[in-house]
Amino acid sequence: MIIVIDGPAGSGKSSTAKAVARKMNIEYLDSGALYRAITWLYLEVDQDIDTLFDLLSRVSISFSYTDDVFRVYVNERDVTSKLRTKKVADQVSAIASLPRVRSFVNELMREKVKQGTYIAEGRDLGTAVFTDADLKFFMSANVEERARRRFKELEASGADITFHEVRKNIQDRDRKDTAREADPLKKAPDAIELDTTGMRFDEQVQQICSIIDEQTDLTFK
Ligand code: C5P
Repeated sequence: MIIVIDGPAGSGKSSTAKAVARKMNIEYLDSGALYRAITWLYLEVDQDIDTLFDLLSRVSISFSYTDDVFRVYVNERDVTSKLRTKKVADQVSAIASLPRVRSFVNELMREKVKQGTYIAEGRDLGTAVFTDADLKFFMSANVEERARRRFKELEASGADITFHEVRKNIQDRDRKDTAREADPLKKAPDAIELDTTGMRFDEQVQQICSIIDEQTDLTFK
């Protein structure tokens, strides 16, 4: 079984999906982290796109979710701590717009999801990757609120970044993610929309859990 949550950067998908996974006792998948890992790899090869493409045919990327942390491994090296840097955030939307990169990530996710019950979050999961998902959600919030949330998170993790930089990065990524040709960010017609501007976190989680409880065989604690 697969449940998806799509939406723009900072809309609350990750924290909400993690909390839902915990309550429902299911697996969590962060597709953005996979795009970030490939972007990290691209930076490691000095931004040489041909070398990156060549590597994609031989690299092993795997992931796991334990103790509330979604970990990504590139050739068995844990790169999780490298994925939230400004360098990666600035390049990820450009790398994620490449069809070759998208099909690599999609294949990885589809294989993994065959092995269990997942809640996955991203941009195009309901429209392109898991079009027949058991349930689809689309989370949104206005840009100020999304930038505020992301800034708080980054500040708490000790990142050296200003609110203005965070808002700009979110706006740039919104633009690139929505305008790209390959599987742009958009709401699937059959997705349930949740505008979380002004909504408390526990309300978002509760609302999604109740819908899952009503519409699937899963129940929550
Ligand atoms: O979710 P997160 O902000 O970590 O995603 C990083 C970037 O990865 C997004 O801005 C987007 O460019 C790309 N992405 C994507 N498709 C997904 C998930 C993420 O293009 N399903």
